[in-house]
Amino acid sequence: LREKRLKNIMGAALQNREFQVYLQPKYRTESETIGGAEALVRWHSSVMGDLMPGTFIDVFEHNGFILRFDYYMLEKICQLQRQRLDDGQKIVPISVNQSRLHIKEENYLDKMQRIADRYKLPAGCVELELTETAFGDFEQSEQRGHAVHVIKELKKMGYSISMDDFGSGYSSLALLQTLPMDIMKIDRSMLVSAEESPRAKSILRNIVDLGQRLGMEVICEGIETPEQEKFLLELGCRYGQGYLYARPMPMQNFADFIENQGKTPV
Ligand code: C2E
Ligand code: MG
Ligand code: MG
Repeated sequence: LREKRLKNIMGAALQNREFQVYLQPKYRTESETIGGAEALVRWHSSVMGDLMPGTFIDVFEHNGFILRFDYYMLEKICQLQRQRLDDGQKIVPISVNQSRLHIKEENYLDKMQRIADRYKLPAGCVELELTETAFGDFEQSEQRGHAVHVIKELKKMGYSISMDDFGSGYSSLALLQTLPMDIMKIDRSMLVSAEESPRAKSILRNIVDLGQRLGMEVICEGIETPEQEKFLLELGCRYGQGYLYARPMPMQNFADFIENQGKTPV
């Protein structure tokens, strides 16, 4: 029922600009300064009220609408970065989430190239977050080869590539070995487990080290407490994202927020 209802209203919602881009800052753990942000959608539906992504992203993935929707989010972020650059304002890299469906989408690379050409942003201004599950069955060399090709081409266009929710699936090490990703985003569940078990802690410590040795930027998601932040610093993890630092905020508020380096103005 939910699926049917959402399907009936999603197209009009996109046209009526009911999807709002929120940005959640990413922090450098050592200096507590903003090093980037992630774009997260919020749906202010005229029919169903305010909705969080957890209630509709899976439906959009199921009916394929997510493809169109992700381009909308990406263009919003490219527009923001272009505008700030043109106005001579400070910018930080901003990431958008990319559904796993894009890897198999026809003409994905052509569409991404067209967007890159339209905004002509310097490399690294826009990051793409892909989850481990985006790469399908890594046992099959054909799929593996295709994933490597897609990642390399996106990087040539100037997009940075981030592996989202790292450690939440089962194929993490095979992916790391094969895919030239720029950023490792460690899933919140690994951090929570590390607080509870010395074994999980040891794994997390070595995962951070491994990511850094592979030349990746390592960031941990879901930092909620000062104890977790302290732990990250101890692990040498240079970036964190979570409610401790800042919650996702409407895109319009983000400009003021970075001008003040995340401190609430007095
Ligand atoms: P994600 O990409 O892993 O995003 C991180 C999620 O963790 C966000 O949930 C964020 O609000 C939440 N979070 C941030 N800090 C904390 C914290 O300290 N503690 C806890 N417990 N959670 C924290 P959100 O905004 O509800 O988004 C959920 C998921 O929906 C995202 O997970 C992403 O997979 C998906 N999503 C959101 N926007 C888009 C989009 O534009 N396109 C696609 N394809 N997926 C999206
Ligand atoms: Mg993400
Ligand atoms: Mg994540």
